[in-house]
Amino acid sequence: MLVDPLSWANDFKLCGGKKQSPIDIVTANMIHIPNMSPLVFTGTPSGGCTLINTGHAVQCTLDPTFSYSVTGGPFSYNYRLGQFHVHFGSDATKGSEHRLNGRAFAAEVHFVFYNSDMYLSVADAADNANGLAVIGGLVDLHAKHHNEFDKIANNAQYVKYAGDTHYIANFDVSKLMPHHHYYATYAGSLTTPTCDESVTWVVLNNHIHATDAQLNKLRTQVYTGDAIDPGVLMVNNFRPAQPLNARRVFFN
Ligand SMILES: [Zn+2]
Repeated sequence: MLVDPLSWANDFKLCGGKKQSPIDIVTANMIHIPNMSPLVFTGTPSGGCTLINTGHAVQCTLDPTFSYSVTGGPFSYNYRLGQFHVHFGSDATKGSEHRLNGRAFAAEVHFVFYNSDMYLSVADAADNANGLAVIGGLVDLHAKHHNEFDKIANNAQYVKYAGDTHYIANFDVSKLMPHHHYYATYAGSLTTPTCDESVTWVVLNNHIHATDAQLNKLRTQVYTGDAIDPGVLMVNNFRPAQPLNARRVFFN
């Protein structure tokens, strides 16, 4: 477990950089670009993925045959989806990495795309400029449960410990990702060490709606350690908001 984000920069120099993520998105300070082009998705949004407890997040790593890409918007390249993962809190007052006008959300799903014009995988792209595009979906509580989020919540029991995996035969990313017409975008970083500043972030205006019961399946069943040394519940696996410094956040 990556305990104490405040000390990451001691061991990982890039974590002390000037373009770190996440941030608090302050709407009054954003720059409006009304004609910013829409995000364009190509390929098939559904396929198999392997749910994995990474010790820091619950992640679904897409099968190599799962081909779903994004371009347009702020992107100058094609970016292919490699994995998505969830940050979540111990209760609904916290959990998201990005904040909106100071407010945290119950969870946040990160859809991690890599620059497929230049690189072969997320790992290959992660330490290169323009290497990654991450689309963030903030999770807000709702009375009605989310069918696609169920595939993560209901399978959390199979990935209790770090390194555990469970195959999901058919996941439809387009059903989990919120409507993507309106968004905020800025230049940032990975939110875990090594904190490379290689990420074009897009945080969608629309939210993912899930129930407290769905989130409880993650909150109560998933640990940061392995079966022998389980560590602690994975809850609150979010990095605090980082300084914006000279950056600007754009919106359409
Ligand atoms: Zn993340």
